[in-house]
Amino acid sequence: MAERPVDRMRVGGVEIVSLPDGAANLGGRPLAGPGDGGAADTSVDWAEYHARFPDGFHGPDHHWRIHNNCYLVRSGGRRIVVDLGVGVGPYPRYGGMHGQLPQAMARAGLAPEDVDVVFFTHAHPDHVAWSLDAEGAPTFPRARYLLHQADWHEYAVHRQPPPRYIQRFVAPLRDLGVLDLLAGEHALTDELTAIETPGHTPGHMSLVIASAGERAVITGDVFPSPFYLSEPERPFGSDLDGARGIASRRALLARIEADGMRVVGGHFPEPGWGDIIRVGGRRWFRAL
Ligand SMILES: [Zn+2]
Repeated sequence: MAERPVDRMRVGGVEIVSLPDGAANLGGRPLAGPGDGGAADTSVDWAEYHARFPDGFHGPDHHWRIHNNCYLVRSGGRRIVVDLGVGVGPYPRYGGMHGQLPQAMARAGLAPEDVDVVFFTHAHPDHVAWSLDAEGAPTFPRARYLLHQADWHEYAVHRQPPPRYIQRFVAPLRDLGVLDLLAGEHALTDELTAIETPGHTPGHMSLVIASAGERAVITGDVFPSPFYLSEPERPFGSDLDGARGIASRRALLARIEADGMRVVGGHFPEPGWGDIIRVGGRRWFRAL
């Protein structure tokens, strides 16, 4: 099979490179998180979604194909990797998949020591698991790893003992002195600002990119699939705080439309970016 070319996008002077960690079919679990077996919601007209997204979606008789996208963002001479995928696996919630981030990085010509910053949108296991190598050292030896302090204090370590993936992939970063905890808005460079978009987790963040009059936002799991751009009021079963998740979706969607932002999703079909278009007053995701 021909190797997929490396997908790149520019936002003014910023370059974004898609680093896919791989995709998996979850089965039809509409409006629910993987593993919670939610029943089909008959109030959704899935046919239109199936027609617009023939390669997979979540709805009756239609698999939710979940893509796990990490991103390299180059800004102001710095190289920032956003999210670290499911890791070496096998990752049971995604059908035993094995992550492909190292291969994606190699195709993009990116070595681990090139990375200055790792930005975690949140501390879920499908976003953090390439953080350490087999010996337990940071995979990215020069990088600072950034996580919102609420994900650390209110989610990652508030249960004792913490979940195993936290013990394996997140807590050691703190012990090694490479994890920085953020609060509020945080500028990574003149062109990149982390903003708080809580609900999916207490400290979920999105990354706003603004450069030379162009804008985009990497949304992590605020919109777990393009469906939620069309129907932001719908609950998502994996949001830890459902009402807050919906509030963040609504607020971020308003900002995206007001500022003309391009959308970059954590679980959208590869490469993961596109625009919101309006058809008959309804919002749809249009991949680029
Ligand atoms: Zn996720």
